[in-house]
Amino acid sequence: MSIIDRALEANRKYAKGYDPALGKRPAPKLAVVTCMDPRLSDLPAILGLPHADLDVIRTGGPAVTEDVLSELVVSTQVLGSREILLLNHTGCGFTTFTDAELNAKLSASTGDASPAPMRFFSFKDPEENAREQIGMVRSHPWIAKDVPVRGFVFDMATGLLKEVHARA
Ligand code: ZN
Repeated sequence: MSIIDRALEANRKYAKGYDPALGKRPAPKLAVVTCMDPRLSDLPAILGLPHADLDVIRTGGPAVTEDVLSELVVSTQVLGSREILLLNHTGCGFTTFTDAELNAKLSASTGDASPAPMRFFSFKDPEENAREQIGMVRSHPWIAKDVPVRGFVFDMATGLLKEVHARA
């Protein structure tokens, strides 16, 4: 059985104990932008906040793309998130290649270069990545100035968050 088929079976069991109150309007307090890396999936434990308080936006890296910016605007202006946390991490898969390398590799291995150059948002330094992201989000005219925008690097070796400060 495929993983998704197993998940569908589990979903039928989940729905039996489902609380319909969860279906009411979302009321997040914090927007978190983090990597798609599964090691960052337990954000309620990592941050000590309930699922319901977190609007989680995930991309590889993470990358603050145009889509992520629009989601942050909606999270803060429409849904009510009051703060923004940009969460990078050590040991990210997106630091293990450059966009050019992966484009070349996939063009060669598939024999089809038509999607190239694909933008993967690879990077080298999570602190530098976080610093750039703070600048991008902070300078967006539709992110209100009273919404704190803070960047962190999650240390895979210790489980601790280290704050990264924007350049003065
Ligand atoms: Zn990552």
